[in-house]
Amino acid sequence: MADQIEEIKRKLDIVDVVSSYVPLTKSGKNYKALCPFHSEKTPSFMVSPTLQIFKCFGCSEGGDALSFYSAIEGVSFGEALKEMAKRAGVKLVSRKQSPEERQKEKFYEINRLASDFFHHLLTKHDVGKPALGFLKKRGLSKDSIEEFNLGYAPRSWDSLGRFIVKKGYTVTDLLQSGLASRKDQGRGYYDFFRGRAMFPLRSSTGRVIGFSGRALGDEQPKYINTTETPVFEKRRLLYNFDLAKREIKKKKTAILVEGELDAIALYEKGLKNVTATKGTALSSEQITTLSRFANNLLLCFDRDAAGLEATKKGIFIAQSAGLEVRAILLPEGKDPDEAIREDEDGFKDLVEKAPPIFDFYLESALSRFDPLTPLGKKKIAGEILPVVKSLANEVEKAGYLSRLAKELDIDEKVLWKQLEKEEAIEGERVFASSVKETSKSSKLPRKEAYLFAMLFSVPPSRIKSTIRKIALEDIKDLKLLALLEALKGYLKDIKRFRLENFSGKLDGDLRRVFEELVLIPLPQTDVEEEFAKALAAVKKGRFIRERKELLVQVRKAEKAEKPAQVKKLQRQIQELSRKIDGKD
Ligand SMILES: [Zn+2]
Repeated sequence: MADQIEEIKRKLDIVDVVSSYVPLTKSGKNYKALCPFHSEKTPSFMVSPTLQIFKCFGCSEGGDALSFYSAIEGVSFGEALKEMAKRAGVKLVSRKQSPEERQKEKFYEINRLASDFFHHLLTKHDVGKPALGFLKKRGLSKDSIEEFNLGYAPRSWDSLGRFIVKKGYTVTDLLQSGLASRKDQGRGYYDFFRGRAMFPLRSSTGRVIGFSGRALGDEQPKYINTTETPVFEKRRLLYNFDLAKREIKKKKTAILVEGELDAIALYEKGLKNVTATKGTALSSEQITTLSRFANNLLLCFDRDAAGLEATKKGIFIAQSAGLEVRAILLPEGKDPDEAIREDEDGFKDLVEKAPPIFDFYLESALSRFDPLTPLGKKKIAGEILPVVKSLANEVEKAGYLSRLAKELDIDEKVLWKQLEKEEAIEGERVFASSVKETSKSSKLPRKEAYLFAMLFSVPPSRIKSTIRKIALEDIKDLKLLALLEALKGYLKDIKRFRLENFSGKLDGDLRRVFEELVLIPLPQTDVEEEFAKALAAVKKGRFIRERKELLVQVRKAEKAEKPAQVKKLQRQIQELSRKIDGKD
């Protein structure tokens, strides 16, 4: 099996695999792109064709072609392997699953069993009749109940639990799957969902990963969801995405609603590109998934102010990811499922004519503040400028800014100035957070890491002469020092330096450091010149360290009253200071 994985990796080029999802541009020996795993405005996603690996310096996602495919398609390693084998033309013999995969497989299976159990009770059993009546009253067709495998969780304490355990699973499995809770007192468990209409939640590949249970009456909470499990993460979930994704890709548009009932209603009426979040908040994970399939996002959320606020952050992320966001304005007080069932054509018309989200926010701000008073102008601008700021397209930005200027009856220049101020602050924030993220992933000191990155980008024929310029004392970081020693030793014995061969000589920890260094995004400048600059910066760091050390010694010598020693040390300090100031 290990051989087959190697064969697949040999036959596949990571550049091909990645570039079928994101456009890559050449950057020295590497390629760079806007990261498909998080939203960003400047590329920090790097691919090395030499080492056949990728890494994002913003969100620290990284790995080889297989892990890229598994991450971007949201599939398991096994599934990625199958697909990649197909592409590479390699026949797979059966493969042993890793313990993690087996663990996940178990939870998929338990959820599938539960889903069928609930569905059986809803459709074939008397106990499910009230729930069936409830769903039909909400307008759901028999076909939908089948297609979405809807179900009913009975009011009993442990009927699902007993069913799962009878199928050969342990109580621990049951508890970990989120389908049962431990009793507060005494031993045992009780079913997590009781007396609710059940909506199985499926992954983007269509596997049941959890449930949403809706109360049949007015009980609170109206919905309860599976808690986080090894297979279910709420912030990643897009309900119905597995069925909708093809249509979303085709139409380049995703309709986003808030709940399962809305999604099913729209899907039933032919709007097959509908998917739902759980609640109004849109996570960056959900947006990242959506932006791989769609250019347009059509929001169909509650139009009240609270809903608007909750969605705002997600909308900003979506806009800065380049998605065009529009909003469907529903008749006051109507849910999407009611609205489409009452007036299908009218609803589809609303979808067609959905205005940009900018209009939505502007209208809302204008209805709450008076654009004629200075305070009102300030409030409105304060709400709308962040919406404009998050737009990725400059032309669009200009258009909206001029509209806002007209509405507020103030000079456009004033708004531009204010926007620049906001962008400057935002820029710093983004930069600071990306630096923080990077250091979290590598923990390498920036200047030294950069020097190594430059070193690995000089032509192989010149690496021997270049590395001689770096002294072991120049490097403070222990990992980098170990790497430098390894490289110096390695270069003694070989004629031609090749990155991939050297990589093979390193053990796991050092290899990871090395791979990261090779992928650090570099400016497109003269390599030798940039190397010299980087080396100067690192040497300066070394001199500063040495000077600090000498200052400590001076103080000791002064205390010990050794004037000759003090003088000698001070001369050395002066010399270092000259070097640090670049006068040497
Ligand atoms: Zn990233």
